[in-house]
Amino acid sequence: MKYSQLFAPTLREVPAEAEIVSHQLMLRAGMMRKVASGVYSYLPLGWRVIEKISGIVREEMNAAGAQELMFPIVQPAELWQSSGRWDVYGDEMWRVKDRHGRDFCLGPTHEEVATSLVMSEVSSYKQLPLMIYQIQNKYRDERRPRFGLMRGREFIMKDCYSFDRDDDALDISYHKMYDAYAKIFDRCGLDYRPVRADNGAIGGSSSHEFMVLADNGEAEILYCGHCDYAANVEVAESGQSAAAEAEDLREVEKVLTPDCRTIEDVAAYLKLDTKKTMKALFYMADETPVLIFIRGDRRLNEVKVQNFLGARLFYMGTDADLAAAGVVQGFIGPCGQKLRVLIDEEVASARNLCCGANEEGYHLVNVNYGRDFEGERGFFRMVEAGETCPVCGGTLTGARGIEVGQVFKLGKKYSVAMGAAYLDENGKANPFVMGCYGIGVGRTMAAAIEQNYDENGIVWPKAIAPFHVIIVPVSEKSERQMSAANELYTALKDRGVDVLLDDRAERAGVKFKDADLIGIPLRITIGDKSLDKGMVEYKLRKTGESGLIPAETAADEVARLLDAAD
Ligand code: ATP
Ligand code: MG
Repeated sequence: MKYSQLFAPTLREVPAEAEIVSHQLMLRAGMMRKVASGVYSYLPLGWRVIEKISGIVREEMNAAGAQELMFPIVQPAELWQSSGRWDVYGDEMWRVKDRHGRDFCLGPTHEEVATSLVMSEVSSYKQLPLMIYQIQNKYRDERRPRFGLMRGREFIMKDCYSFDRDDDALDISYHKMYDAYAKIFDRCGLDYRPVRADNGAIGGSSSHEFMVLADNGEAEILYCGHCDYAANVEVAESGQSAAAEAEDLREVEKVLTPDCRTIEDVAAYLKLDTKKTMKALFYMADETPVLIFIRGDRRLNEVKVQNFLGARLFYMGTDADLAAAGVVQGFIGPCGQKLRVLIDEEVASARNLCCGANEEGYHLVNVNYGRDFEGERGFFRMVEAGETCPVCGGTLTGARGIEVGQVFKLGKKYSVAMGAAYLDENGKANPFVMGCYGIGVGRTMAAAIEQNYDENGIVWPKAIAPFHVIIVPVSEKSERQMSAANELYTALKDRGVDVLLDDRAERAGVKFKDADLIGIPLRITIGDKSLDKGMVEYKLRKTGESGLIPAETAADEVARLLDAAD
């Protein structure tokens, strides 16, 4: 490709709309542009990266035995009604009507479509296992679209679905996908970690997320320094159990705490450690109010609470919900509570805690579980870095991650709901045992930048770089430089190297800046001084290493340098 023909409008300034590095650099490098919130155009350079990532995904999916197909984006409501998800998917679903007023959605995911296809076309155990996948746009009307391709409302996903006869066979499919994911993210040059994950609304029994480690990651993970335990904080467990405190039980006292609405206010006013207080959290679970009490210094784990309750709709109560439930905001306590109450293990084992008195301006001190209040016990708090590993007793470390992919065991959830079954050797009908496996292609691109950039721009891992090599003649006016440049360009193209020739009428400094910004792994500069010695200059984007190579054998040298680069 000749740069003079390339549609890559680069920007010198950092665009105000972009908060994180990957988004800023993709805009500055002319790789993408916004069309609407969470909806983007991919420009040629950006699209080349998407195609490279998709290519790697495709090769590894095919190698694992999955077959590529293409489902429609538009899906009829009936399919989602048959799985029971039409009413529970919520506002993220992008719903549309046709001219007859019939309901459809733009696919946020394709379990229903895949299951319905397989149930009508696959009838025998002899046709199993079956793994099918596609790479396609997905639509989710995210509450907070942000960070460019990281969390879009229209985004590209690889989604794969496996159909097996039983749990053992699903195990095999799941591990094939898990291994394929590791190969994909290795090949993309990413530093990632598979972590145990929640199964969320999709249901099922087991799941891992592939997290690219990055400070800008939205996910929080905990991993052990001694064994390979690693989990999303949503499901992480702690090796330390809440031991019952030894303190003697003291008399309950009601104390005046004017204007103390937060834990910090109360603790400061009563001169207590926040560990000796409890925090009330008010949630709505399938339209029923629930109060959860955790220690004042802890964070609530919403996912664990939702799973404990088995609630489909679960959200923090609004002011209106609080008013309707008749609770006294800022002074909520578990004693004499009429609403459903959940008590975290730590609160149940602690002694002489402080809590709201359910009366404006008052708290109670020295309350104790079992004596002064009751509630359903469970593990409802977040595990924190520094706690003990639940597997080996080592210490857990915290990190942030970008979830680039997830593998799920769905089990029979969809096949039972939709009546999808195969016949076994004895002619008996059994529901398919399913798995589903997603990779965010655009999010992977953004994550790769979050891990690979410097003050001059992107530093693409070679496998997903839009071009491998850029040839920069110092002056496009020099016939001698241009002929050497063109010769190398043709030789590299013949070898199948992705090469860009910067033939623009720009100053050398501008061309160097653009090459760095776009992040091409290897730059070859062709100038008179080096040509006089029969040489051209190379520079590696990642390390900054530079040197001279003979002009004559430059194509061979470039191939060697590229092989050596990661
Ligand atoms: P998240 O928790 O980040 O919303 P998810 O659990 O909803 O992700 P899945 O349904 O498992 O995601 O989708 C598979 C993959 O698609 C994710 O691992 C992620 O890489 C990608 N993905 C999901 N939502 C988005 C989005 N809004 N924009 C870009 N990529 C996304
Ligand atoms: Mg999501």
